[in-house]
Amino acid sequence: MGAVGVEDVLLPGIDVHVTAVRVAAEGAVVEASACGGTPSCPDCGCPGRRIHSRYTRRLAERPVVGRRLVISLQVRRFFCERRTCNRRTFAEQVPDLTERQRRHSVGLRRWMRTIATFLGGRPGERLCRTLQLPAGRTHLLGLLTAPAVPEQAPRVLGVDEFAFRKGWRYGTVLADVEAAHVVDVLPDRDAVTFADWLREHPGTETICRDRVSAYSSAVRDAAPDAQEVADRWHLLANLSSAVEKTRHQHRHCLRKKAEADAQPRPIINPLPPPTLPPTKIAVRTRDRYADIHRLLAEGRSVSAIARLLHLDRKTVRRFRDTDLDQLLSSSRHGRPKGGPEPFTAYLTERFTDGVTSPTDLFREIQQRGYQGSDLPVRRYVAGSGREPSNPPAAPSPIPARSPSGSCCPATVCGRTMKISS
Ligand SMILES: [Zn+2]
Repeated sequence: MGAVGVEDVLLPGIDVHVTAVRVAAEGAVVEASACGGTPSCPDCGCPGRRIHSRYTRRLAERPVVGRRLVISLQVRRFFCERRTCNRRTFAEQVPDLTERQRRHSVGLRRWMRTIATFLGGRPGERLCRTLQLPAGRTHLLGLLTAPAVPEQAPRVLGVDEFAFRKGWRYGTVLADVEAAHVVDVLPDRDAVTFADWLREHPGTETICRDRVSAYSSAVRDAAPDAQEVADRWHLLANLSSAVEKTRHQHRHCLRKKAEADAQPRPIINPLPPPTLPPTKIAVRTRDRYADIHRLLAEGRSVSAIARLLHLDRKTVRRFRDTDLDQLLSSSRHGRPKGGPEPFTAYLTERFTDGVTSPTDLFREIQQRGYQGSDLPVRRYVAGSGREPSNPPAAPSPIPARSPSGSCCPATVCGRTMKISS
């Protein structure tokens, strides 16, 4: 193996001759001079034969072993000898190392453009600082260039909105669905802008879009022959949201139906039940706790959950930060001392067995957790006394809100299903 020069190590394959390497405050400095062939005038292409002058330019290069690298490069300036050319002189450029009016080497610019593409401005700037690369946020973003927009629209065009700033300003992104890359970006999500784009870029056969009506009207105006399809993501997202909303609205009747299907009617134990029977508020607390924690696990934000479940954000945060037992306990204590509905089945059973004294019945259900007064029990017994064979039924677990009839076979819940986009 022959002797290897410094240029073979630091600048392999580049037409320069390294004259010295030294360490300065700014990092390692490589002093070199260009030694390539005759360059040509950038305007007319005339080869430069006469040297006008020499000068030194400084180029930032990719760092070496964690130290910044600067190339102090001597280049030649040539006369352009073609009389018709407006340029009098021009400086030589070293292929793969220098570009006109650039203070970074070609290789360093390539690195920084890659970083800007993958990370963007601020994160890219932080990485460059760690890697000893001389690049700021705006410099990195300036390296990004938009790809050329094709004259013809792709055969399958995807269109969707995106937020420049959420809730404030939106644009439209157009993609080639088959090639899976972005084709163009529009400054807003108006029908007119999209229709203009479709007229300027004809040729699309299928337009895959979400359910925004503006895009639909633009397609009708500007590309009436194109077939419109709903994109798979929005289809699934809308369906999932509708199912989620409906399931939440009907969670009580679904639970009741499931329980009724799963087990036969339980025989009431004459002995006192060991625990407090589930009250409506306890059931609701358990359901709400489960729903909120499931949505949190799916990665939804507090605001999104509040919107979805029609709750205040404070409520969502309380359910997020508090144990279920504590929530159930506070729901029991905070509950107004109301009627004996959860104990109605028990009262009926005991009344049928012959215990007809309101005082005895009141004491019994008190031992089982009832916290209200004895008045509802006395009323219950009085009503049962009049119609002993038809004791009053327990009230509907969910009060009817809409007069538009029942939608669910499990119970008379009175709520209507509404599926929105
Ligand atoms: Zn020229």
